[in-house]
Amino acid sequence: MTAPWTYPDFDDHEGVHLFRDAASGLTAVIALHSTHLGPGAGGTRFWRYADPADAITDALRLSRGMSFKNAMAGLPMGGGKGVILADALRTKTPEMLAAFGRAIDSLGGRYVTAEDVGMTDADMVAIARTTRHVSGLPVAAGSAGGDPGPTTAHGVYLGVRAAIARALGKDSAAGVHVAVQGVGSVGSGLARLLAKDGARLTLADADAKRAKELAAELGAAAVAASEIMTVEADVFSPCALGAILDERSIAALQAPVVAGGANNQLATPADADHIHARGILYAPDYVINAGGIINVALEYLGQGDRAEVDARVALIPERLEQIWTESAAADIPAAVVADRMAMRLIGRG
Ligand code: NAD
Repeated sequence: MTAPWTYPDFDDHEGVHLFRDAASGLTAVIALHSTHLGPGAGGTRFWRYADPADAITDALRLSRGMSFKNAMAGLPMGGGKGVILADALRTKTPEMLAAFGRAIDSLGGRYVTAEDVGMTDADMVAIARTTRHVSGLPVAAGSAGGDPGPTTAHGVYLGVRAAIARALGKDSAAGVHVAVQGVGSVGSGLARLLAKDGARLTLADADAKRAKELAAELGAAAVAASEIMTVEADVFSPCALGAILDERSIAALQAPVVAGGANNQLATPADADHIHARGILYAPDYVINAGGIINVALEYLGQGDRAEVDARVALIPERLEQIWTESAAADIPAAVVADRMAMRLIGRG
C-alpha cells in the first residue's frame, strides 16, 4: 500500500485512517483534513471503486473540500470524510454499519459523519448504535437536521439571486432565464423556488423523463442533457455532477453567470482561470452549496432549530459578495479567492 502522503491529493491531512473488519466485511477509510475549527465533519460515501487507491484519493480530496466548505459556512467544524468500499454486490449490512460506527468512535469525536452518495438516513440510524458522532438522523419538524437537499437548494437559490443582482442588476429572478443541469434533490428544489419568482427556466436531466415532468409542472422548457450547457441563458446552474467545467465546456458556455449546487464543478484548478478570463461571474461551489452541511452540523451540535439554520443559510449571499468583490478588485478568479479565504480560516493561509 502506497503511503497516503505520496498521493497527489494529500494536503497535510491530519490523519488518514484505514479500517478493516473481517467479520462484517467492512473496508473503510476516514480522512481528517483539518480539525483546526472543530471536529472534522463530512458525510460517508458508499461506493464501489475499481482500485482501493481511488477510495483513498476520494477521501483525501473530499475531506479537504469539507474543511473549506465548513470554514466558509462559519461552522465550528473541520473537514473529514468517510468512504466505505463496496463489494461487487454492494452489500451493506447492519453489522458492517455497526463496525463503521465503532471505527468512527475510535477517533474519539475528531470525525463526525452524515450521509453522502450511497448512504441514507436509515444507515445513519444504524451507525448511531455504535457511535454518537453522527448527524443526518431523522428529526422532528422544526428542528435542525434531516434531509440536507432542500436546505442546500434554498442556499443555492439565495446565491443565484445574489449573482443575478450583481451581474444583471436585477433585484428579483422574475423573467431571468436560468438553465438548470440536473433536477434531482437540489436542482428540483432550486427550480421550484425560481419558478415561484417568475424566472424563465430551461431544465435538463440525464433522466429525460424527470426533466420533462418537472418542466410540465413548472411551465418550463426541457432540453436534452447534452444541450443544457450551451443554452443561451442568464444563469447556468450546475446541479448534477462535478468536473463539468473544463476548458472546452467553459469556452462554449452561453451564460454570463455560473451558480449551482453541484460539488467540485471545476475539472482542474486551471479552469478557475478559464472561467474568470471569460468574464463569467462564478459562485464557488462549496460556498453556495453549504446549506445542507449547515443543517446537519447544527443538528449534531444541538445548536438551534430550523430558524437558526435559515438564518445561517441567509448569510451565503454575503459570503459570495465578499468573494466577488475581492475577485473583481484584484482580478483573481473567484474560486481562487474562496480557497485563499478558506485556507486563512483553517489557519493555513
Ligand atoms: P440527486 O442524485 O438527487 O440529483 C442529481 C440529478 O442529476 C439526478 O436527477 C441525475 O439524473 C442528474 N444527472 C446526473 N448526471 C447528469 C448529467 N450528465 N446531466 C444532467 N443531469 C444529470 O443529487 P442531489 O442531492 O440533488 O445533488 C446534486 C449535486 O449537488 C451533486 O453534485 C451533489 O454532490 C451536490 N450537493 C448536494 C447536496 C445535498 O444536500 N443534497 C449538498 C451539497 C452538494
